[in-house]
Amino acid sequence: MLSSGKYRPDKDLIGYAEAMLKRRLLSADVVYNGLGTARADGAVVVQGEADDSRIIAVDSLEAAKLKFPEAKEESVGFAISPPLVNAHTHLDLSNLPYFSGSYEDFIHHVIVNGREQRNFAAAKAGLAELRRQNIKVIGDIVTQEDVMTWLLQEADLKGVAYWEVIGPDPADAERIFAQTVAKLRKFRGLEQPGGMRVGISPHTPHTVSAPLLQKLAALARHSNLPMQIHVAESASEIALHKDGSGPLREFLQDFIPNWQPSGLSPVQYLKKLGVLEAQPTLVHMVHVNEDDVRGVQRASLAVVHCPRSNESLGSGRFPWELYMKHGVEVGFGTDSRGSSPDLSVEAEVAAAARLHGKKASPLALVRAAVKGGHRALGQKPPKFLRGDQVVKFHIWSA
Ligand SMILES: [Zn+2]
Repeated sequence: MLSSGKYRPDKDLIGYAEAMLKRRLLSADVVYNGLGTARADGAVVVQGEADDSRIIAVDSLEAAKLKFPEAKEESVGFAISPPLVNAHTHLDLSNLPYFSGSYEDFIHHVIVNGREQRNFAAAKAGLAELRRQNIKVIGDIVTQEDVMTWLLQEADLKGVAYWEVIGPDPADAERIFAQTVAKLRKFRGLEQPGGMRVGISPHTPHTVSAPLLQKLAALARHSNLPMQIHVAESASEIALHKDGSGPLREFLQDFIPNWQPSGLSPVQYLKKLGVLEAQPTLVHMVHVNEDDVRGVQRASLAVVHCPRSNESLGSGRFPWELYMKHGVEVGFGTDSRGSSPDLSVEAEVAAAARLHGKKASPLALVRAAVKGGHRALGQKPPKFLRGDQVVKFHIWSA
C-alpha cells in the first residue's frame, strides 16, 4: 500500500535529487556571517531559487566542497557578509560638489556652497544612493528639520539621525542648549518603533564651547541620546588645542575669538569635560596618540573611519593598527559627497585596504564594515545562519 502511506520513496528521492541540483556554492576571499571572526577563503552554500532560497551551510571553501560536491561553485569576489553600515555621512550635503584640498578650505567650501545646496532634495538623493547599495543602517548628521522628520518616518531604515549643534561662544551656551532641547523633544516624538533614533552631534570640540559641550553631554547621558562628534580630523586641530596656533586658528579667528587652548589633545579635552561619559562615537580620530586610544578603549567608545574623506582633505593616515592593538571597535563612514566621490562603503573599505596595506587584514576590514558600524550606532549586529533566507546576506560587488 505504498500509495496511501506517507512514505513515497520515489517521490522523495526525486525531490532530493532536484534540491541537490539547485544547490550553489558561493565562494569569496572573505566570508563573515556576523559570528566570531571572519574567515578567509570561505563559502556559503545555498539551495532553492529566488524568494525560496535558503542558506544550508557557511564554511571554509575546502570543507564546503567536500560536504556538497554536487553544488555548483560560483566565485563571487571579495566578500560575503551581512549588509554594511554607513556609520557617518551627511546626506543633506549630497549635492555639494566634490572637493579636494586642505581641511580649512573644505570648511569654507561647505559654508559657501552649503547655503544653496544643503537641503532636503540632496538628502533624498543621498539616501537613494545608499539604498542602491542595500545600505539601510546609517549614522547621518542632520541640519535640516524636514530631513530629520523624513528620516524618522522611513520605516526600512535603522541607525541614528544626529542633530548637529554648533556654538563656539560660551555666552551663547544657555540659549543654544534651550533651543536644542526643544527641537530634540519634538524629534523624539516622531521616532517609530524599529526605525531610526534621534541623536545629537556637537560638531567638533572647538566649534562648540566647553559649557555647551558639558550641557549636551549631560543631556545625552540623562536622556540616553546617542552622540557623535568629529574629533582629531586634521593636524591643525591638534595645534589649535595644544597652543592655539596654526592654520585652523587663523581660519576660525572671527568665529572663535576667545578660544583658550587647553594644552590637551582633543580626546583628552573631551575627557576632562566629562563628554566621554556620554559614550559618544568619535569620527575621524586620525591625529591621536596611544594615550588617546587607550582612553577610548577604557571608555568603551567606538570610532568611525572615513579614509577617502581623510585622503581628499590631506588629513593623514588613521592609525588602524593602534585601534586594533587596543581592541577598539571601528566602523566605516563615507562622510559627505563634498569630500568623498560617492557614498559607497565598499569603496571606503577598498581605500582603507590600499592605505593601510599589511597593517589591516581583509578579515578585520569586513568585520568593521558590518559589526563595527552597528556598534558605532548602538545597533545589534546582524548575522546569518543555516536555515536563514538568502536575503540576509550581502555579496560585495568587487
Ligand atoms: Zn562629517
